Amino acid sequence: MSPNQLYQYSILSALMHGLAAKETGISIADLLAHGDHGLGTVASMNGEVIVVEGEMFHYPVSGAAPRRITADDVEGETLPFAMVTFFQPSMTRYLSSLSMSTLDTSLAPLLPDRQNSFLAIKATAFFNHVTVRSIPAQSYPHEPLSVLSKRQTEHTAECIAGTLFGFWSPEYSMGMSLPRSHMHFISADKQAGGHVVDFETETTDNKVKLEAAVMDEYTVRVPSTAEFHQESLSSGNPTELMAAEGAE
Ligand SMILES: [Zn+2]
Repeated sequence: MSPNQLYQYSILSALMHGLAAKETGISIADLLAHGDHGLGTVASMNGEVIVVEGEMFHYPVSGAAPRRITADDVEGETLPFAMVTFFQPSMTRYLSSLSMSTLDTSLAPLLPDRQNSFLAIKATAFFNHVTVRSIPAQSYPHEPLSVLSKRQTEHTAECIAGTLFGFWSPEYSMGMSLPRSHMHFISADKQAGGHVVDFETETTDNKVKLEAAVMDEYTVRVPSTAEFHQESLSSGNPTELMAAEGAE
């Protein structure tokens, strides 16, 4: 695939319905053939996945040590939901600070000028804090994300170097994706990571590197399994979806 094409496997509202069985997911090799940067979750939603520079890391819910997943690692491992791209930044800015609340405005001139496009976003910095959420894995098949998220906990890493990578999705993508920004984190030493609900970099002299690219091609692959097709999926309840993903 050419750079900055967005490849997505399954849709977010399928996770809201708890459709996250191993057999419904995409294989690691297949996914990495479509991108070297991205995010996703593993079977039963047992943690968060980030892909940066071609390397995939999984942060389990239990807080157990993260692990690198490679294409020939665990037989049959799959991701029930993922978004990836071959990231080639078309915009690079060096900022003195960046936080969850300033992310959108810091993406100028891409936002709002390209607000109806998908964007890939990467920020490399030293962070005062990064707060990630932790959702318990499904305790039974099809346990919905909206139920799991009620038991979510948050964990904050302080004074940590690392990288945020994720996507900015337009409002109209509700249900397919998470509208606005959806970012995952990986620390420089790989030991900390997850789905970001809040962050703030240190205030420094133009040392926050913010990169982004517009993605005008969006491919969604729909799972063919019986699980995925057992019920009619709608775009879902926006309030529930935003709450489940820790977005405002
Ligand atoms: Zn996430």
